[in-house]
Amino acid sequence: MRTRAAAVVDLGAITANLSRVRELAGAADVMAVVKADAYGHGVAPVARAMRRAEVRWLGVALPTEALALRAQGDDGRILAWLWSPQDPAIASCVREGVDLSVSTPWALAEIVEAADRVGRPADIHVKVDTGLWRNGAPAASLPDLLDAVARAVQAGSVRLEGMWSHLADADVPDAASLETQRGRFDAALDQAEARGLRPRVRHVGSTGSLWTAPQCQYDLVRVGIGLYGLTPGDALGTAADLGLVPAMTLVTRLANVKRIDVGERVSYGGTWTAAEPTMLGLVPLGYADGLPRSAGGVAAVLVGDRLCPIVGRVAMDQCVVDLGATSVARAGDEVVVFGPGSRGERTADDWALSLGTIGYELVTRLGSRVPREYVGVS
Ligand SMILES: *Cc1c(COP(=O)(O)O)cnc(C)c1O
Repeated sequence: MRTRAAAVVDLGAITANLSRVRELAGAADVMAVVKADAYGHGVAPVARAMRRAEVRWLGVALPTEALALRAQGDDGRILAWLWSPQDPAIASCVREGVDLSVSTPWALAEIVEAADRVGRPADIHVKVDTGLWRNGAPAASLPDLLDAVARAVQAGSVRLEGMWSHLADADVPDAASLETQRGRFDAALDQAEARGLRPRVRHVGSTGSLWTAPQCQYDLVRVGIGLYGLTPGDALGTAADLGLVPAMTLVTRLANVKRIDVGERVSYGGTWTAAEPTMLGLVPLGYADGLPRSAGGVAAVLVGDRLCPIVGRVAMDQCVVDLGATSVARAGDEVVVFGPGSRGERTADDWALSLGTIGYELVTRLGSRVPREYVGVS
């Protein structure tokens, strides 16, 4: 590795995680969620790996993320679900055959207008708010929305490909909300049926619900974090407990090594003081690269076979680790920030746990200065 640092992504691990997820999904199909640059893993290679593994559906949040997939030659089914009024990407999505989520009358009207202009029907998935209170039509507005959808279907402007919802507690075993949300979703399906609307795919679950709510699997499960090998929630156990393998290893090399004397303070503000003489290693990654500033004094990286705590504040481009008084580490030695854990390094989930966040945040926030490298390409 000649570069300063790299996020090495094991596509073989992602494919193995897909197999694990498919096993749990049973008869339901799996949508590979590749929003936010495939959770920081790099959307182009991940999407290609998923299509090679015969994944029929890709999921993204933004219409522009769907268009980027089309631009790289992906011609499979893609669902995009989040935008604000008059997003110029909507008409392009309709033209490019991207499936779009509909939660509101204005979204439907814009899609109908685009479909009529482009001259092809749009494939829509009506989103029902069953208790998350983010996007989706809540019970009070669903009847009017479904009436409008029925008219648009009649007019040939749209096809009702899906109906869907999203769970608030997919990662919480035995959460009461799982049954409540399922019940509300079934009621919404009945309301659609009463209007002659029969969606081809119904989908509610995400990674967590593979373990917590098999009854929410319906026809399709939208899986993100599980593919990347991180846990959807601590209450479910570690990735290893769940049979998942973390796909990303963040590596770099020491940029400097030096001895510090007792009483000297390290990094901005001098929040850490050497209690005894020790060797310090300079790690050339900082918060601009996605290491949380709060990781100082909390997280640790692997140098050789030793876990070395980050001491003092994490800066924009760099941070300092305590290599230990007897360390023989030298500039250029490899540093594993996080990875699958197989060499004794921490996982992104371990980092998240000690920082009071979730593995999702660590991998998606990795900065653009960190090149992604790929291994395990079949
Ligand atoms: C991100 C997202 C998912 C994937 O969730 P995971 O917990 O990563 O599996 C599924 N559905 C929606 C609506 C999402 O926004």
